[in-house]
Amino acid sequence: MAIKSKTKPKKKRLPRSKYNRKELTEIFSRFQKLRPEPKGELMHVNPYTLVVAVALSAQATDIGVNRATKELFKVADTPEKMLALGEAKVGEYIKTIGLWRNKAKNVIALSQMLVDEFNSVVPQTREELVRLPGVGRKTANVVMSMAFGIPTMAVDTHILRIGMRMGLAPAKTPDDVEAILMRIIPEEFLYHAHHWLILHGRYMCVARKPKCEACIIADLCKSKVKTCDVPAPIVPILDQEIPI
Ligand code: SF4
Repeated sequence: MAIKSKTKPKKKRLPRSKYNRKELTEIFSRFQKLRPEPKGELMHVNPYTLVVAVALSAQATDIGVNRATKELFKVADTPEKMLALGEAKVGEYIKTIGLWRNKAKNVIALSQMLVDEFNSVVPQTREELVRLPGVGRKTANVVMSMAFGIPTMAVDTHILRIGMRMGLAPAKTPDDVEAILMRIIPEEFLYHAHHWLILHGRYMCVARKPKCEACIIADLCKSKVKTCDVPAPIVPILDQEIPI
């Protein structure tokens, strides 16, 4: 008779962050001073339109998605209205966005599932959210955070890049970067951390030529590519327009 092993499955060893707790606290305190109330840049009017907007944003810019959804959400801001509009018409609204045919199909399919299985209410758990067509872990994390106030780390291309570049979360996959960041970011900063990191990557630590001279954490940054050691003064950004 085969004997079952009682050993627990090994926990995956993740790469270590280059920053200690004191440094992390300082970095996120400065992000907090710069943007006390950071907001996502995807336009939406309720949890349902947020799910749709995030699902549409895969391999597209937030500005491009906002341009398309501005008119779409005027006529369809609930699953029922989206179903009434139908796939072909949804496609017409979003055809400026990459992969729009497939995305239109998913918007209709996820709306149908919300009506059939969730009483037209967007669910709050990751397990339920990822069942919706076109919704992956990243989308689910964004929705949980922005719609329901649950701290998550939605790793996009910016967070993946700066995680590696700064040595903050030097892993190669979004899931590993997410796991490292969720473990190391001090709890008091966790709720806003993903917006701070996305905005830092989108506007400061940009892909081609990071703007180190204007960076408020230049003295703390351990990146090999940084070009300046002097931190820029912090001038709070209090209101953030959603770009369309
Ligand atoms: S100093 Fe430069 S490399 Fe480091 S986080 Fe700032 S912009 Fe990025």
